[in-house]
Order: sequence, then structure tokens, then C-alpha cells
Amino acid sequence: MSLKQEESSKSSMVHSRNWIGGEWIVPAAGECAVVNPSDIREEVGVLHLSDASHVRQAEQAARSAYASWSRLTGAARGEHLHRLAAALEARAAEVARLASMEMGKPITEMRGEVMRGVNLLRYYAAEGVRASGAVIPSSEPDVLQYSRKVPLGVVGIITPWNFPVAIPLWKIAPALICGNTVIWKPAESASLTATRLAEIFAEAGLTPGVVNLVVGKGGKIGGPLLEQIALDAVSFTGSTATGTHIAETCAKRNIKYQTEMGGKNAAVVLSDADLEHTVPLIVSGAFRSAGQKCTATSRIIVESGIYDSFTEALTQAVSRLKLAPALDPEAYLGPVASAGQYETVNSYVQLAWEHAEILAQGPAAAEDREGYYIRPLVAAGLNAEHPLIQEEIFGPVAVVLEASDFKEAVALCNQSVYGLSASLFTRDLSFAHRFLDEARAGMVRVNQETAGVEYQAPFGGMKLSSSHSREQGQAALDFYTELKTCAIRYF
Ligand code: NAD
Repeated sequence: MSLKQEESSKSSMVHSRNWIGGEWIVPAAGECAVVNPSDIREEVGVLHLSDASHVRQAEQAARSAYASWSRLTGAARGEHLHRLAAALEARAAEVARLASMEMGKPITEMRGEVMRGVNLLRYYAAEGVRASGAVIPSSEPDVLQYSRKVPLGVVGIITPWNFPVAIPLWKIAPALICGNTVIWKPAESASLTATRLAEIFAEAGLTPGVVNLVVGKGGKIGGPLLEQIALDAVSFTGSTATGTHIAETCAKRNIKYQTEMGGKNAAVVLSDADLEHTVPLIVSGAFRSAGQKCTATSRIIVESGIYDSFTEALTQAVSRLKLAPALDPEAYLGPVASAGQYETVNSYVQLAWEHAEILAQGPAAAEDREGYYIRPLVAAGLNAEHPLIQEEIFGPVAVVLEASDFKEAVALCNQSVYGLSASLFTRDLSFAHRFLDEARAGMVRVNQETAGVEYQAPFGGMKLSSSHSREQGQAALDFYTELKTCAIRYF
């Protein structure tokens, strides 16, 4: 690269910024380069890191905005969300491109994710004028008794990098419509996209202090955020290790929290499954977004009667997958998101080559790219306790297990500390119903991939996948409010 080219590429680089009380602040507690996971020779931008002082500033801004924001009518708050939706829709292509370059999700998927964010904003905007609460008959005469939902106050929102637009919005939109204000700490690997979203909020005229963005490392600003300021609630999505630590901290402070965490999702294929439809859905569940979805299919449990024909069809399908740079519209999967992800996922790939039978491996990415590419891999021949079967890999690696019948398949499906999503593939309605009853997961599905959530339906996991509350749909409105029981006597 010539000096001139280098200078012009530096000037087009994106810089993260904090947005606190409507002010833009470039924090100076450290900085690091953001490289494009599709080609690590390319710098996308610079991350400017915050410290505890920015968290305290955000607390003050969120607290002072709360007084007026919580008193607005639901309709007025809804108007704000409608404006955010329109502004995001107008910038959808640009946001999707930046996110693809920052964390490696293929552009076609990323565009869909941004539009889901737009829909989430519109869905919750409409909640501003919907009925909530109930009239409860009093046992005394001349008393009107009713319940109403009231906001919690200042909510801390901590998000991961794998859905850099949808997850923040499925938390921020319901928090705001319910009358809360927000301090948002995005993942390091999605902070440029978070900055762009905050810029869009500012352009759309969102009241200063209602959302406050603080960019930084979880290990550094997580402590101040959770322990040094007076948060009223926390909504977290990320790993089980971080989530359980956050849950402990919030429980000690007796503030409301929700933690949505890891998964080790199973797809069960019965002998009567329609392979033509089943195989593409399983491949999509396992390998879209390079397997970096909490709901990704990472265990495939196959009934003996169909084992050979299923694995043959799966092997062929995996051999045709296109692993390519995230901005390639033909990419089925892109790179994994970061150097850390590359190292962790590759350690599981190595384990698979050492301990398992390799059933299938997808083609490599083009050689002129230096990115965090990991070829899709399907392994088999492991016992049910093996780390590849039990631990969340969060990459393009799936393992196949054989089950003699439906009963054994469900037992294997439930043999996990996680319980986020589970799918069954069958044409038998009785087995379909039994699976929906017996699978221990927050999302149970038949003839659908384990990944894929609809914003109007509750979402969350069982066991170590979640703190057992639910996000999205109407369930989110319960989390971001608490109930007051009101009674008034008239004379
Ligand atoms: P992570 O736990 O490393 O980080 C998540 C967020 O927590 C980031 O913003 C991070 O900076 C912050 N954080 C880290 N340490 C912290 C601390 N001590 N205090 C406060 N905040 C801290 O997870 P990740 O690598 O970003 O995301 C991948 C994980 O997220 C996977 O396990 C995946 O299954 C899970 N996930 C779950 C869901 C779900 O809805 N269940 C959805 C997406 C991702």
C-alpha cells in the first residue's frame, strides 16, 4: 500500500465513541485497532476504551433523563421508537456493511438482521398504546383496585458481538417503551456498529440521556457498571461464565436481572424424516453465521434406521458450502469473528481430528485472503460425555450421535447442562408432540432449524442457558417493568 493509499484508508476508518447525555466523547483509557476478520490485513477502525469515570457519567445522564422520559405518555415514547425505526431502515445497507466488516457475518444475513432490528423497534413502538395491567375486583365496596406496570429505572444492557444489531435492539426497544433509561455496554468486537447505531439514534432525535453508550472491555468497565453505580436492573446476553458472575452480583444487590447465555443445541432426526427438507435446515442451523449463534445446531442425533443415508446426504451438502469473505453475497458462511474465536474454535477442531471420525469438511476459503476462516466440520464416533458433545464450541463444528430409537434420542438431547433450543425432524405427529413435551429447552421445534427466532415470540433458555426469564415478544415487557397494585376508595 502506498503512503497516500494508507493515509486515505486511515481517514475512512471508523472510530468508536461514547454517547453520554447526548454528548459525543472519545474515551482515552486505551485504544486498539479493529481488523476485518475476512482479511486481517485490513483495518476497519479504532476502538477507544472507557474507564469507570465514563460509567459514572453515564449513570448521571441516565438518572437525570429518567425523570422526564418515564413521565412521557406511552404514545410519545412510541413516536420516538418509530423515528428510530425509520432512521435505521434508511441506513440499513450501511449498518449491515459495517457490521459484516467488523465481526464477519455474511452480508446477506446481516441485512436480514438489521431489518429485524427495524421490525423490533416498530413492534415495541406500538406497545406504547396497548393496554397493560388489570382491574382486580376488591373485596370492599367502593374500591377500585387495579395493577399497573411501572418502569424499573436505569437499566444496564450488556450485549455480545454475534448479533450486533438485533440483540441490543431487542433489549433497548422494550426497555425504552416501558419508560426506563439505558446504559448500554456493547461487546468489544461489535463496538463500531454500536457507535453507528447510537449515531442513528442521535440523528433521529432521541432525547439525550435516554440511551447512553459506553464502549470498553467487559473486564474493565463491567465491575464499575455492576458494582459502583446505582443500576436498577441488568439485561445481559453472552457466555454462561460471564452471565453467572453477573447474576451473582445482581442477586447480592437485589436488583432485577436477566442473563441469556450459552447453548449446545440438538437436532434429532428420526427414521421417517424427509431428508430433502431436513438436511438443508440442519446445515443452516449448524453453519450459518459460522455456527456463532447461541441457537446453532451443534449436536445432530440420528436414529439408526436413517443414519447412513442421512450422513451421506449431510456430507454432500457440507462439501458444497461456500466459505468466503463476509461481503461476498454468495458466502454461506464467513470467518469467525476474532482472533480469540479463531483460537478457541480451532482447539475444538484439533480435538475432533484427534478423537473423532471426521464425516465431512467443507471447502476452504480462497487463498488470497488472510482471515479467520474455519472450514465447516462434522465429526462422529464420540461418547456422549466427550467435551465436543458437551461444551459450547460456538463455531462451524457439529457432532453426530446415533440413537437406537426416539426414547434414546430424547435422552441424548436432554443430556446437557444447556437448554436453549432443540429440534425434531419427523413426519410422525405423535413423536412431534412427545418431543415438544419432553425436550428440555426454551425453544422446541419440529421440522425447523434450531436457530431462528421471531421477535414477537418469547425467547430464552432453560438450565444453564438462562436466568429463566424471557426476552422479546410480550415477555420483555414483564422484565422491564414491575407491578404496582393500586387501590382507591371513593366516598
Ligand atoms: P461474553 O460473555 O464474553 O461477553 C458478553 C458481554 O459481556 C460483552 O459485552 C462483554 O464485554 C461483557 N463482559 C465480559 N466480562 C464482563 C464482566 N466481568 N462484567 C460485565 N460485562 C462483562 O460473550 P461473547 O463472547 O460476547 O458472546 C458469545 C456468547 O454469547 C456465547 O456463549 C453465546 O452462546 C452467547 N449468546 C447467547 C444468546 C442467548 O440469547 N442465549 C445470544 C447470543 C449469544
